[in-house]
Amino acid sequence: MFETVIGLEVHVQLNTKTKLFCSCPTSFAEHQNTNTCPTCLALPGALPVVNKEAAVKAMRLGYAINANVNHTSTFDRKSYFYPDSPSAYQITQLTKAIVQKGEVFIDLKDGSQKRIGMTQAHLEADAGKNMHEGNHSKVDLNRAGTPLLEIVSDPDMRSSDEAVSFLKKLHSTVRYLDISDANMQEGSFRCDVNVSVRPKGQEAFGTRVEIKNINSFRFVADAIGYEVQRQTEAYEDGVYEQEVNQETRLWNVSEGVTKSMRGKEEAADYRYFPDPDLRPLIVTEEMIVEAKIMPELPDAKVKRYVEELGIKSADAHVITSEKEMAYYFEEMLAQGAVPKTAVTWLTSELLGRLNKAGLSIETSPVDAKTLGTLVAKISDDSISGKAGKELLDHMMENESRDVDALIDELGLAQVSDDGAILDIIDEILAANPDKVEQYKSGKDKLFGFFVGQTMKASKGTANPGKVNELLKERLG
Ligand code: ADP
Ligand code: MG
Ligand code: ZN
Repeated sequence: MFETVIGLEVHVQLNTKTKLFCSCPTSFAEHQNTNTCPTCLALPGALPVVNKEAAVKAMRLGYAINANVNHTSTFDRKSYFYPDSPSAYQITQLTKAIVQKGEVFIDLKDGSQKRIGMTQAHLEADAGKNMHEGNHSKVDLNRAGTPLLEIVSDPDMRSSDEAVSFLKKLHSTVRYLDISDANMQEGSFRCDVNVSVRPKGQEAFGTRVEIKNINSFRFVADAIGYEVQRQTEAYEDGVYEQEVNQETRLWNVSEGVTKSMRGKEEAADYRYFPDPDLRPLIVTEEMIVEAKIMPELPDAKVKRYVEELGIKSADAHVITSEKEMAYYFEEMLAQGAVPKTAVTWLTSELLGRLNKAGLSIETSPVDAKTLGTLVAKISDDSISGKAGKELLDHMMENESRDVDALIDELGLAQVSDDGAILDIIDEILAANPDKVEQYKSGKDKLFGFFVGQTMKASKGTANPGKVNELLKERLG
């Protein structure tokens, strides 16, 4: 039996207005090489200055994961030669990162949580982009110098499920903190996956391979699955030493395999040394105060939803997994929706319709205020649940979101008024004297017939509880 060991390095692009060491904008769509200046082009004599916003955002992550936020941190140069880096080195934090030693709690399938230790989170500058077209290669340096936060976990994960769960938690956390848009397709949240296996019971770790630059949860799971099998088989076949090397591999999506890219560099290959152009980063009291301004995070929300709102833990996890959904839910409550009813309407009625239409919470045609109002109307018996569904269907397809006006327009108001319901009941009883006779002589089953007829005559608007109560009165 073998055990899998996984540690992750996640690169998060911080959503600052300007780059890490100059005042060039970080915006995306500009013409090639226009968001540049002597500093990010590495022209001689230009000097870097640390972006305070980037430091504060890194610190905010640090506080969110119970880490040590270092009041002094330093920058190092990591040398490598590649056309997308005009300086031929990357500025990073090797020896004293701004954030060290934290923890993230991941949610396991059985509902329990597991603690994953965090090694550190450090600031570093992104490279530009190489573009290969036919026989030409071009370099676009618009992205050069964009701030990245590299977040490194301890080797604490033991399965691909745990790794994916960790990534999802970190992804949602950086989005709650609003330090990154974490868009995986655009590469602003991507990770390197370190995987090794060892015989169960062995204390020493096996040899790890690092699978670089994966930008989807699915690919992370698939790549780990492949590597674990490859390494385990090598062990069983007695060729572990030959076939499992400390190296960098790439996940080949179309073939479903990892492939060796290069042998793992040792730190010495990078010739790290302290950047002589940058003084230590010393955080101020003001930065600490700003970094500690923090929204309620998913773990705290789950706890509050369960303990104060009486929501099932599984539902609370679903709702808090993305901040958009949690904020949507909370806005529904602000409109007077009862929490448990709001959960059902959000997670099954709305999400079901959005899925069908290929939409998401962010692109939902029905906003939280509107759905919250609708759900509040069900709870106070203004409309029935069935009418609510009809109303929601209508709003998914049409422009109007005025719940009150639509209830009138579509004739959905629930009638709870005794007099109005009794009028209908009396009509039904008068029209069916034979059935009334049969009922009174013991055919109890006919009660359902009278309820059905009354509901039908009211076009479904009569309050069913009231109908039952009043029918019993009239027939009894
Ligand atoms: P480097 O900086 O050279 O990539 P580190 O020692 O900092 O190497 O580790 C990088 C990542 O690899 C961390 O996330 C760590 O948890 C993980 N890791 C280290 N050893 C192993 C191992 N034997 N198996 C799986 N992951 C590992
Ligand atoms: Mg690494
Ligand atoms: Zn610049």
